[in-house]
Amino acid sequence: MKFILRLLKRTWARGGKMLSFYRFIRPVLGNDFEISPIMNSILLFLLGEIIACYGGSPTYNSIPRLLLVSFDGFRADYLKKYPLTHLQEFINDGVLVEHVTNVFITKTFPNHYSIVTGLYEESHGIVANEMFDAEKNRSFSQSTETDPFWWNEATPIWVTNQQQENRRSAAAMWPGTDVKIQNVTPHYFMKYNHSVAFKERVDNITRWLNSSNPPVTFATLYWEEPDASGHRYGPKDTENMSKVLEQVDYDIGLLVQKLKAVGLWEKTNVIITSDHGMAQCSSKKLIKLDDCIDRGNYTLIDTSPVAAILPKNNKTYVYNLLKNCSSSMKVYLKDEIPDRFHYRHNTRIQPIILVADEGWTIVQNESLPKLGDHGYDNALPSMHPFLAAHGPAFRKGYKLKTINTVDIYPMMCYILGLQPKPNNGTFSNTKCLLIDQWCINLPEAIGIVIGVLLVLTTLTCLIIIMKNRVPSPRPFSRLQLQEEDDDDDDPLIG
Ligand SMILES: [Zn+2]
Repeated sequence: MKFILRLLKRTWARGGKMLSFYRFIRPVLGNDFEISPIMNSILLFLLGEIIACYGGSPTYNSIPRLLLVSFDGFRADYLKKYPLTHLQEFINDGVLVEHVTNVFITKTFPNHYSIVTGLYEESHGIVANEMFDAEKNRSFSQSTETDPFWWNEATPIWVTNQQQENRRSAAAMWPGTDVKIQNVTPHYFMKYNHSVAFKERVDNITRWLNSSNPPVTFATLYWEEPDASGHRYGPKDTENMSKVLEQVDYDIGLLVQKLKAVGLWEKTNVIITSDHGMAQCSSKKLIKLDDCIDRGNYTLIDTSPVAAILPKNNKTYVYNLLKNCSSSMKVYLKDEIPDRFHYRHNTRIQPIILVADEGWTIVQNESLPKLGDHGYDNALPSMHPFLAAHGPAFRKGYKLKTINTVDIYPMMCYILGLQPKPNNGTFSNTKCLLIDQWCINLPEAIGIVIGVLLVLTTLTCLIIIMKNRVPSPRPFSRLQLQEEDDDDDDPLIG
């Protein structure tokens, strides 16, 4: 019943543009034909869907603009736990994906690069925040290394966008945007500096988006919160996290206000999302590697909660010692890493990886480094971010349960009219978010079938009623003729 009401509501919204179905059919069926408001809604819905399906070109304006925003470490359920007024307002007038299944490992650099390439980590090459490439014998650290070598296994959307004629890209500190990937940076970008205020980043990005020759059609904006505070306090510290999220919500309000002030709000598609969630850690949930294996046997490339182990000599020996180290972590040889992680086929993935259970921290012998962390199994809801979007390309007031992080890329390419590079995403997963796409799910399909049956039944009933109401002149004429015949016959009888 709830679905039917939603369907009718949506149909009435279409009806505002399309007048009444009654007006379409009156010339055909005559003035005596009447249909109820509910039937009018059903017919309008069907007509609207047919037009939406076969109408062809997108309904939004000709110069697409897209602003992709990431608030680092914005766990999906923060949306339900905290009163985020500005964000809720944004969602009410746009779309929401409640959980985005991100890519393993659920770390910052890898996931940000998956959002803009549509690739799993093994395919785009940014497999961790700290990496070692055995073939090149080189190390990568997120805070120091800017050599394009690490990023060139993929092509992010800002490069593809800029390769189109008469288009520019802009970026305010999204990971990788200050690196010459494929020999290209966004036309406008900021060198990464965490101390640059949110307002300054917003002022820059809106100014660039407003430059028109050639126009900036794709822009990205990155902000370090609520990730930094999530690490410091842990997500269970609701007193501190509520203050942090209040500030994040204020910043979202500031962004919207700024876009409105420069006249970009109505014509710009804005996606607000994140790279991962956050799990609560505890000093009672420590896995100490030194208790199991001597440090001289391996190099620790990346730490927790997915530790990357490069054995020095005997891989099997190291593996066996680690395998029996803790019941709260999984130990995989590279070849054994589960398929669902899509995390195996890259030289930067180390021969042994350790995956801590949710909330557990892997150390060598240190005390607990932080109260909140991420990087865990991407099947865990605590690791999932959300996605909200607003603008001419998106529906209004639509909610979807889930998509994958890699699905965002083909959707962005569609909005911008770009040919996507080969990717791991599925465009159809995001169709329901887009205003010009045919979107149907099982409840809707059932609703449409019921609607069609109701229409057919009503039309059949109407035809029967109309037939019974107006008697056909033909039998009457025949009766008269028969009577005349009878009269004519009388003399013969007589
Ligand atoms: Zn992050």
